[in-house]
Amino acid sequence: MTVKGWCPGAWRPMMSGDGLIMRIRPRLGRLDRAQILGLCALSQSEGNGILDLTSRANLQMRGVQESRHEQVLSALFDLGLLDGTAEEEARRNIVVTPSWETGDLTTRLHDTLLCALPEMPDLPAKMGIAIDTGPNPLLSDTSADFRFERTTAGTLILRADGADKGKEITAANAPAALIALANWFVASDGRTAGRMSKHLKTTTLPPEWTQQPPAATALRVSPGPVGQGHVYGAPFGSMDASALAALIQDSQATALRVTPWRLLLLENAQHCDARDFITQASDPLLYTHACPGAPACASATVDTRSLARALAKPGLHVSGCAKGCAHPRPATTTLVGRDGAYDLVENGHPWDAPRATGLTATDLLTPAS
Ligand code: SF4
Repeated sequence: MTVKGWCPGAWRPMMSGDGLIMRIRPRLGRLDRAQILGLCALSQSEGNGILDLTSRANLQMRGVQESRHEQVLSALFDLGLLDGTAEEEARRNIVVTPSWETGDLTTRLHDTLLCALPEMPDLPAKMGIAIDTGPNPLLSDTSADFRFERTTAGTLILRADGADKGKEITAANAPAALIALANWFVASDGRTAGRMSKHLKTTTLPPEWTQQPPAATALRVSPGPVGQGHVYGAPFGSMDASALAALIQDSQATALRVTPWRLLLLENAQHCDARDFITQASDPLLYTHACPGAPACASATVDTRSLARALAKPGLHVSGCAKGCAHPRPATTTLVGRDGAYDLVENGHPWDAPRATGLTATDLLTPAS
């Protein structure tokens, strides 16, 4: 298993079994209608026609040939979906609460924090920022190291991930507060730990950073109509680009917002037939995890997604190998590919000791008599 020490982007893609993976980080998690239709067309012409939703609310093109990387960068630039440099892209690791409104605190913070990024110290590549400043936090389970949130009184805090409380700040001094917390992380040797929450297991934050708790986390959106449009789910976070383009056209959506939960919010969308997408909150596919598996990932020796579809139930994770990319957390039932068969882990991570080994798909699909 190869552990990758950086977050892939468009400028610095990652090689996979089916070509380059190019990650696109849309600003505010939003693509307008022309951008999403253009990206769907690009995925079909230059990739393998699949777009993935990531757990940090980004989009991934898969299957891009190395020799076409520059042409795809140029097309992304024309669509307004490319940062100016690889450095800018790497630093702009920001996830925002998807229910923002134009001109609200979330969008204003987003714009001011962008200006602060060049002044941030060098941080480990996986570190990121959550602007979770709706009335209640929604992104508490989404990977981030610096969390902007509101308190129950509605005031703004910046909280280090792993701490129960944050420092009260204002929108005006938010950039300075972010830079100060990042500088503390570096000065206290946080880079050795790599992530804020891991660092706080051995290092105590100065008291000024632990003043106020955030408001209680709210329920995330689910498939169906919402104030800004309509929410659809993507099984395993993977979408056929032609099906997504058809959904945008048929629903007359004016824009798409990506969420960290394998859900898309289509702005001003009409209800329409969406066979390739999840439309019901009760659909077990929404709660079943599976990475691309073989042959898409070079580390996998087994199929993952057709087995996961057949066995779909909440708490099931089918992983192509012990790395567990789709759900690097414990699950009720985890099937882990190894040497062309599956190991079964119960109530554990993909890398934990299995209860059974060497199972075939037939074993797993055959009901016990
Ligand atoms: S968990 Fe899946 S996607 Fe991740 S490295 Fe293993 S096979 Fe590949």
